[in-house]
Amino acid sequence: MAKKKKKAKKVLCHACKGLCCRYMALPIETPKDRGDFDDIRWYLAHKDVSVFVEDGDWYINIKNKCRHISEKDHRCRIYEKRPRICRGYKTVDCEFTSDEYDYSLHFTNDKQMEEYMKVKFDNNKSDHPINSLKKRKKKARSKK
Ligand code: SF4
Ligand code: SF4
Repeated sequence: MAKKKKKAKKVLCHACKGLCCRYMALPIETPKDRGDFDDIRWYLAHKDVSVFVEDGDWYINIKNKCRHISEKDHRCRIYEKRPRICRGYKTVDCEFTSDEYDYSLHFTNDKQMEEYMKVKFDNNKSDHPINSLKKRKKKARSKK
């Protein structure tokens, strides 16, 4: 009887170029008013910065690789003394394995935030062009 070939243990990181070592995602305060959203617009004016919302929590993502990742084999050069955050990071659901993220919002530049703010804050304002037009029409009707 032919011997069954032993399946090689799959080590995900071997096939990956160290994606998780090439950015930082940090929680930020949930924006409440226009000023808070405008501050986020400022973050987004910077290159390689994005902001996303996951499970109601807001995060800033800064694409910037760690100085300790090797460009030759994409391994950590200080593996034995890597920081706590790196030690706690698991391959389960890391960006290499998951196909898509569960973002409810994802901004990749300040223009997107500007558009979002327009809808969020200006669409309900009484001095918004559409609302002013509605008001004028209403007035005109009541004069008849
Ligand atoms: S944890 Fe995931 S993203 Fe990080 S190196 Fe391994 S496979 Fe790549
Ligand atoms: S210290 Fe090592 S494991 Fe941590 S981010 Fe840098 S290269 Fe990656």
